[in-house]
Formats: sequence, structure tokens, C-alpha cells
Amino acid sequence: MSYDVTLIPGDGIGPEVVEVAKRCIEATGVKIKWDIKPAGEECIEKYGTPIPDETIKSIEKNKICLKGPITTPVGTGFRSINVFLRQYFNLYVCLRPFKIYKGAKTKYENIDIVLIRENMEDLYAGIEFEIGKNDTLELIEFIKEKKNILLSQNTGISIKPISIENSEKIIRFGFEYARKNKRKKLTLVHKANIMKFSDGLFLEVGKRISQEYPDIEFEDKIVDNMAMQLIQKPELYDVLVCPNLYGDILSDLCAGLIGGLGLSPGANIGEDVAIFEPTHGSAPKYKGQNKVNPSAMILAGVLMLDYLGEEEAADRIENALAFVIQEGKYVTYDFKNPDEKFVGTKEMGEAIIEKIGEKW
Ligand code: NAD
Repeated sequence: MSYDVTLIPGDGIGPEVVEVAKRCIEATGVKIKWDIKPAGEECIEKYGTPIPDETIKSIEKNKICLKGPITTPVGTGFRSINVFLRQYFNLYVCLRPFKIYKGAKTKYENIDIVLIRENMEDLYAGIEFEIGKNDTLELIEFIKEKKNILLSQNTGISIKPISIENSEKIIRFGFEYARKNKRKKLTLVHKANIMKFSDGLFLEVGKRISQEYPDIEFEDKIVDNMAMQLIQKPELYDVLVCPNLYGDILSDLCAGLIGGLGLSPGANIGEDVAIFEPTHGSAPKYKGQNKVNPSAMILAGVLMLDYLGEEEAADRIENALAFVIQEGKYVTYDFKNPDEKFVGTKEMGEAIIEKIGEKW
């Protein structure tokens, strides 16, 4: 069987790490027809947009996309392509595993957390009211009339919508994921004590759905406490389900726990389309230097293979990556102290590819 997959190399360090991930996948023998498509800053001059139609059409057709990081152009009026793609394809789940590989540079030992983030709503919904605009002044007037709250005319406003439908979808996904992957506990993150009608609703839906999954332990945590708990006792946490913004922030916190962004992959999943990418961005200062860690991009490929049902190939790549990290001979700068020897992106990739090819 062969799969058609849209491949977006992306910007900055994207093409370098994507090339390594693609070769790792090919080394497993899984047959993939790559449909390589452009997106990012460099497309603006050629296509007038950072995300050309041909790229969107390719994802629409293939339904699966492996994507490198993309720079969000500042000051051009274009919004983040990443947020656009999640909204356009209704990719309501963002799934990010955080696991410690022996040899990673971290003070912790025993972390294996999967963070599931709602991807469509919350403060990311794009409902923004700019300071001084007529709409904003009207909204300030409306709030005064209806809520008897006086806001300064010099206020900008972002709205935080959370619906029953989307909360149900993401929380149910979390429980199903926990069950399928033999996880024991699901922690729902919120700030329902302050935002009663948005986070409060998310929590209420969580409590209701948890009744259908008596085999999974359920608990909830207020987000500020969650941040502290993750630093102090990360080994106590298993699956976290978060509204959009808390999920975004806690993702970087978890990445910090396990050794950095270079080790953190992500999957954006909808009803029929899924896009796999690293959590990190395009790190423009390292572009073309053969310097950065390709692991997050390779692990995004592992998530994609799992999603396609190619678990054995996914395991082979992950085992090879874990071996190379633990051996510590062919790893990038972020695994080492400044006075220690390290290798480049390509060399680390070669070591992993060689290991994938070996019999285990
Ligand atoms: P970034 O993740 O690109 O880089 C921050 C720092 O993290 C880097 O300077 C580097 O020290 C480290 N880092 C990142 N990736 C690494 C890797 N693979 N190996 C080792 N170290 C690594 O974040 P930023 O500088 O805030 O963003 C740069 C651009 O990327 C921005 O335009 C931003 O909008 C975009 N971005 C894109 C995505 C995406 O495509 N999904 C995600 C985040 C940021």
C-alpha cells in the first residue's frame, strides 16, 4: 500500500529538518508518494500569499500533511498560516506527546505526558476589537449597558468563546485517546473559578463526559496550579486536556521539562484531515547552518505513521532515535554543554537512518 502525503518544507530551518524526517520515514520501507508544496514567507513574492491555493488543494486531496515550521511574517498583514490551516481544515485537536529520552538535557527523569489542546476556540478564535475603532466603542457601550461595567475608551478587546460542542469533541477525544493508548489518568485544565461561563462550561462538560469512562481516572486542575505541579511533580501526570491558550502555554512548559522544543512534535487532527509538525518554529537565526535538532520533526513523522496505522514503522524510527540520543555520539548542540562535542542536523539524521535500517 502506498500513501499520498502533502509535504511542506516550510521556512527557516524547516527544509533541513523536513529532509531528515522524510528520509527516516523512507528508511522504514513504508511507501509514500510525497506531494511537495510551498508555503511560507518566500511564497508571498511569487504567489501574493504565504499559502498558495495549490498547497491547500493538495492537503484537501491527500488529507495527510507533514509540515515543517513556517515563519509568520510580521507587519505584512498576513496572519499565521498555522492558525489558518487549523481553522480552515477544522483541525480541532492538537496532540503533543512529551516524553523523556535518556540522554536528553533535562533535570527530570520520568515524564511521559500527552497534552491535548483544543485548537479552534478560546482567545485564538480571532474575535478581536481594536482600540478606538467604531465596533470597539460600540462594544464598550454595550458592556456598560448590559453588565454595568465601565471600560476605558482606550481598551482593546479579545473575546474568549468556548462552546459545548467543541468542548465535548476535544474532551471525548482525550478519553478515547487515553483508553486506546492504555493511559490511566486524564487531567482537565481550566480557570473556572474566574471564567465561570467559558472555562466553567469546559469543566462541566468534562465532568459529565468522565462518567462514561470509569476506567480512566479523572481530575481537574486550575491552570496556575497545573503549571506549578508540572514543575514539581511531572511524573504524576498522564493525559492533559486543555482549552486552547492554556494548552499553548503548557506545551512550551512541558517541552522545557523534557529537554527543549527540539524534542516536541505535534499533530493537528480533524474529522478527515491531519497535519503533523514540530512544536518549534522556523528558528530563522539557524537557517541553513546544519545546526538544529531534527528530532521534533522526525517525531512528527512518527505521529503520522501511527495515525496511518503503520505502528511498526513508527516504533522503529522512535527506537532508533532513542538509541542515538542515549548513545550521545551523534547529537546536536542542544544535547550538550558548550565545551562538549556535537554534530549537525544531517549527521544526527544519518545516525538515526542507519539505526532504522538495522535489524532489532
Ligand atoms: P522558534 O521555535 O522558531 O525558536 C525559538 C528558539 O528555540 C530558537 O532560537 C532555538 O534556540 C530553539 N529551537 C527551536 N527549534 C529548535 C530545534 N529544532 N533544535 C534546537 N533548538 C531549537 O520560535 P520563534 O523564534 O519564536 O519563532 C520563529 C518563527 O517561527 C516565527 O515567525 C513564528 O511565528 C514561527 N513559528 C511557527 C510555528 C509553526 O510553524 N508551527 C510554531 C512556532 C513559531
